Parts: sequence; C-alpha cells; structure tokens
Amino acid sequence: MRYPVGNGTQADFDKHWYIASFFGEYRGNYYHSGDDYNLRTGGNTDLGQALRAISDGEILGIDNTSITGFGKQIYLKFKVDGKDYFAGYNHCDSIAVKSGDKVKEGDLLGTLGKSGTTWAHLHFSIKNNANGMDNVPNTKEELAQWENPTLFIKKYLNESEDNNMIEVPSADFEKLVKNSSEYDKFVEAGYSSVNDVKELEQKIKELEAHKCPIIETPEPITELKLKERIEESVEDDVKIIRKYSL
Ligand SMILES: [Zn+2]
Repeated sequence: MRYPVGNGTQADFDKHWYIASFFGEYRGNYYHSGDDYNLRTGGNTDLGQALRAISDGEILGIDNTSITGFGKQIYLKFKVDGKDYFAGYNHCDSIAVKSGDKVKEGDLLGTLGKSGTTWAHLHFSIKNNANGMDNVPNTKEELAQWENPTLFIKKYLNESEDNNMIEVPSADFEKLVKNSSEYDKFVEAGYSSVNDVKELEQKIKELEAHKCPIIETPEPITELKLKERIEESVEDDVKIIRKYSL
C-alpha cells in the first residue's frame, strides 16, 4: 500500500504534505469522513497533483455530480486480508479511469482538484462498508463504517526497498540504461560521478513515463532543486540497474 499522493512513501508524505482537516472531526451535524491532504506550499499549489491507486483494485465508480459537495469523485475497491475496502478520492480536478477498470498500486487515477470546494485539497476516505459511497456519517455509529485513512495506510504501508519500484520491461531497460554511455559510471561509481544534466533531465522524463518514483517538488524548479531532483532520481535509477544486473 502507498499514499494516494506524491511518490507514495511516508518520507515523501511527511516532507511535502500535511493534513489540513482530520478524520472524525465533528462539524455540527456530521463527522468528517476522511483526512484532507494538502501540499505544504499552501493555497492551490497542489491543484493538478497526481492521485494514484493506494493498492491493487478495481474502480467501483466515479461521480461528477455529488450532492454532498465532494465534487468529482473516484472510488477504488481493494482488498486487505480478504476483506473489501473502498477508498474515496474527492474534489478531483480530472479523472483518468472509468468504472470497472482494474488498476495496480501506483496507477494514475486522476488529479487533485477543488471541485465541490473552494481550495484545492484531496478529501481522502477509506470505508469498510459498501452501503453507499456518496454520504457522510451523522452519528458516531455511522462513523464506524469509515477507517481513519492515514492510520490505515500507515498500518499497511509497503516500505520495503522495492516500494513503488516499477519493473521496467527488459527492452525498455536496454534502451534506457544499458546502452547509455553512462552505464559503466552508474554501475561502477554510483550516481555521484554523473554530471551530464541534460542527459539526466531526459532520463527523468523517460523514467517518469515508466512511473518510476520521482520526488515531486511542489516549489518551482530552480537549478539547485533540479540538481537535488536529479540526484534523487539517479539514486532510483541505480537501484533499477542493480535489480537488473543481479
Ligand atoms: Zn474533507
């Protein structure tokens, strides 16, 4: 399991995101059914961020006409220990999947938005009961049909070394890395010897196209940021090489 935003890891979530409004808060006549995720940079800077599947599963439904103010919604059905759960992605800007789609953990489902609300954020919920997704809990008893979504993710988070590492098909691997003039440098000296910014910039684009874990920097990309980003990406790149050179 991974977080629905950023590169999915706890480290990335802690570094770039915060919870603006918590699960279970009482709002006068109902309880907040999820956590609201925002980029630390505030405002609408998170508008358009990728929303990804927290787990393998199936798109149970999408909704563009919420009567409860959730805006554009995506519902992902997934299993944990043989039991069905339902993740809700609310206030989306765009939706990239349709009802019935089978998805893999990390797949792009849509983008973070502000539909049905004023400021962009992801209202993220996990329900343990399939009795309707587009509703809110009015009592404590009803609230028990929802999980605390962040605690739930933390409990099942996959923090193994290969977390979010997408296996690149060997043909693509050849194209991406093995035939690169940098190949020996990557393998023998690690990423510190690689200085060709243009080539690495291109490599990042290629890796992103293969859904490899790139740290998403919410700030404008300055030269320093780009360098940090390249170093992080190359580190991932080296992991991929090691994976294939075993
Ligand atoms: Zn919310």
